[in-house]
Amino acid sequence: MSSPPADRCGCTWPRDHDENGVPRQDSCCWRETAPNADRCVWHADTQTVTKSVERLRTSRAPRSVRTRNAPYAELLDGVTLAGLDLGSLRAVTVDGDFTFGGAQAGAVDNAPRIMDLVTPDGVTQSEALEYDGSTRATLPFVLL
Ligand SMILES: [Zn+2]
Repeated sequence: MSSPPADRCGCTWPRDHDENGVPRQDSCCWRETAPNADRCVWHADTQTVTKSVERLRTSRAPRSVRTRNAPYAELLDGVTLAGLDLGSLRAVTVDGDFTFGGAQAGAVDNAPRIMDLVTPDGVTQSEALEYDGSTRATLPFVLL
């Protein structure tokens, strides 16, 4: 089994990735490791690395690597963003105001903060963004 250089994340996806198996859109992160961590800012847990949108942006893989990963602009499989304040999205509420309206009463916390999205053939935006008080919307994967 090979391991990545010490300055590279090397997080593989899927988690049960088998380097001797048949690849199925498997990936290996080549971003630099964060200081005092064995993973990049994207893959390190939030208790090890302090994350911000700016820090994530500046720790993206080099353009040359992203180009080789085409058609994907950035590999995000397995990243840890729990608890990260994205800060620039307005809330969605029932009545709107300085927020966006249209959320379902009793399900405001699960209302997706999405205005538009591309869906796969045969899936409408309404179907993709469907949610209720106990279920969040699940964004479908679309290969661009
Ligand atoms: Zn990584």
